[in-house]
Amino acid sequence: MDARPHARREGAPLTASGPLAGPIVVSAQGLVKTYPNGTAALAPVDLDIADGEFLTLLGPSGCGKTTLLNLVAGLIEPTQGAIAWWGEPRPPGANAPHRLAYVFQSPTLMPWASVTANVRLPLTLAGEPDARADVAVAASLELVGLEAFGDRYPRELSGGMQMRASIARALVTRPTLLLMDEPFGALDEFTRARLDDELLELWRSRALTIVFVTHSIAEAVYLSTRIVVMGPRPGRILEEVGVNAPQRGDRWRASPAFAALCADVLALVRNAGQAEVPRGKARVPA
Ligand code: ADP
Ligand code: MG
Repeated sequence: MDARPHARREGAPLTASGPLAGPIVVSAQGLVKTYPNGTAALAPVDLDIADGEFLTLLGPSGCGKTTLLNLVAGLIEPTQGAIAWWGEPRPPGANAPHRLAYVFQSPTLMPWASVTANVRLPLTLAGEPDARADVAVAASLELVGLEAFGDRYPRELSGGMQMRASIARALVTRPTLLLMDEPFGALDEFTRARLDDELLELWRSRALTIVFVTHSIAEAVYLSTRIVVMGPRPGRILEEVGVNAPQRGDRWRASPAFAALCADVLALVRNAGQAEVPRGKARVPA
């Protein structure tokens, strides 16, 4: 039986996603975040993230998606509750381990430094020897298709290429858990679709666990193995939808199952955007 306070459902007509596959990578228990100005950004949230999941936080603006991601990353402290990383309780104030990397909404590249220097930054900060760093930076640039652009400066790159550089910087330490806050939201639709596919390829080839934030229902349904629908005032989890797509790609995007699941999730998000829905009482319109 599911002991979670929020409802858990499967995205009909797709088959059930079943129990979480791998070992738990992040376990958040009773997380509450109230900012110093009194904003209740997050009501108690319980969330377990398993190894190998592509988990997406989806919901209207202001429902606490970034707050939850920042808590998972250890960038901010919860007001109540606790997080465990890889089975170990996270000590208050602990820095994120190298196994975890964060990709922000904007590429946040140093404008005065080359792409290579930007991607190298986490290794420089970690005191990695030069020769090993060179190899890791080259591999990371190649991974995102920027091997010919290492000498360029961020201003010389398109928005999509800047985001690729930001992903290369995140992956250069070979993390296993990648947190991404609306990484492709500022890009045009064509670039975004291409980066979605590149991200799926990285997820597979690097066996990553990904926690992804987006406003886009289609992007969430396209990418995720599990969608967590959040609602505002206070931010909380309303529903979870397991997505068991046979394989991602153009056929999945064009399939009736994809359209049906997008419609289903839209109904959930609309519900989430409406007035107060008591926790665990979210309902999907028939
Ligand atoms: P989302 O990412 O879903 O848009 P956020 O996590 O950014 O939501 O914000 C959740 C709520 O907390 C919003 O009402 C937002 O205004 C508020 N908030 C976010 N950060 C802060 C902060 N540092 N101080 C005060 N309120 C904040
Ligand atoms: Mg946000």
